[in-house]
Amino acid sequence: MSQGSWLPLKYPPVSGPYKERILSWPWWARTPPMCEEVFIGVRFEEGMERVMSIKVAINGYGTIGKRVADAVDAQDDMVIIGVTKTRPSFGCDLAVRKGYPLYCTYDDATKIDAFAPAGYECHGGLSDLLKVADIVVDCSPGKVGAANKEAYVNAGVKYIFQGGEKHAMAGMSYTSSANHQENLNGSGTRVVSCNTTGLSRTLVPLYEHCGSLSVECTMIRRAADPGDSAKGPINAIKPVLKVPSHHGPDVMTVKPQIDINSMAVAVPTTLMHCHSIVATLPEGHGLTTERVLELWSNNPRIIIMNGGETGITTTAEVMEYARDIGRKWGDLHEIFVWEDGVKLSGNTLYYFQAIHQESDVIPENVDAIRALMGTEDDWRVSVAKTDAAIAIYNGI
Ligand code: NAD
Repeated sequence: MSQGSWLPLKYPPVSGPYKERILSWPWWARTPPMCEEVFIGVRFEEGMERVMSIKVAINGYGTIGKRVADAVDAQDDMVIIGVTKTRPSFGCDLAVRKGYPLYCTYDDATKIDAFAPAGYECHGGLSDLLKVADIVVDCSPGKVGAANKEAYVNAGVKYIFQGGEKHAMAGMSYTSSANHQENLNGSGTRVVSCNTTGLSRTLVPLYEHCGSLSVECTMIRRAADPGDSAKGPINAIKPVLKVPSHHGPDVMTVKPQIDINSMAVAVPTTLMHCHSIVATLPEGHGLTTERVLELWSNNPRIIIMNGGETGITTTAEVMEYARDIGRKWGDLHEIFVWEDGVKLSGNTLYYFQAIHQESDVIPENVDAIRALMGTEDDWRVSVAKTDAAIAIYNGI
């Protein structure tokens, strides 16, 4: 029998597709007692099952980055090996509290050294983090990803960008229900924006049922995130004067068969986006309003509620409902569809849906990691695993 080594596992060894993979003593892992409620020390001996742990780096620990970090931390087949901050600001405290090793976004020694006087241990620059990562989730502000991509490619690390980046730059795009298979074992992808993710959630099942779909939609967008003091408008409705807006065409990066156009306006709210959607179904679609609702309720990450019956008639109540569910930050990973706002008239389907912009893409990032790493080829299995683990993590 071998001497054995202590393996930090989030849960006892699992069976099924995740066993018999990587075995290593990850020097970066947090050790008990800091995370004793999460990690269980297990002595590895010959014959024991081995658990795969995909080493995930988060580059850009902001609104999306901190949420993706926790969603990854919730899973038993992946682990956060480090998160980056550009400078020692208040977001570092959360990373420290969570036990995520802190790195600087840049390799510049002066910038790395700036963390220590502020009381934070910085483990190095981005290059140091990439050396120990299997995959990096880039959560930097939109349009800075292209510069980061070079570093990822040079380090030989797989990468996931967010919706603020262009499809062409990333080379691939991703949503769990639309094109998980196409992303399997890829070197990099882009999880599409919150709006595009929301559109895909309800349109892809419709397309798969009907075989063709033509869509016109209007995105009524929140002006800024709740934690953002720099954006607006605060006293206007601001149309996006580029028609169509990028949202519809963006859906076609993950499901090119859906024929879709969109327009967008920004309104003075921070809570959610709301979509007003008109979809034309092909002749012989065989659906009724009730069957459309049934179709959606058989698909993950869609919540359908009746506004009249529940009193959830605006995005304010939707967000209050989300806070009641109990996910961190009051997040709502699901797309919210008002049952009484859905109407199929002949071949034309009308509906409204609400999107929690800060969080609907979060579980998709976890599924995208499994797709690129090639560890789960069935998107429904990945979604179920991701969501169950997040629910346990949040105690719900
Ligand atoms: P954010 O501003 O909240 O966070 C970005 C983080 O990246 C900050 O911590 C910032 O300091 C850091 N950063 C700055 N320059 C960097 C660089 N060069 N490399 C790495 N990190 C850098 O932004 P966010 O809202 O989290 O958005 C991140 C991405 O997610 C964008 O592409 C955005 O379009 C997309 N997205 C945002 C939302 C949303 O509602 N916030 C929803 C879906 C997708």
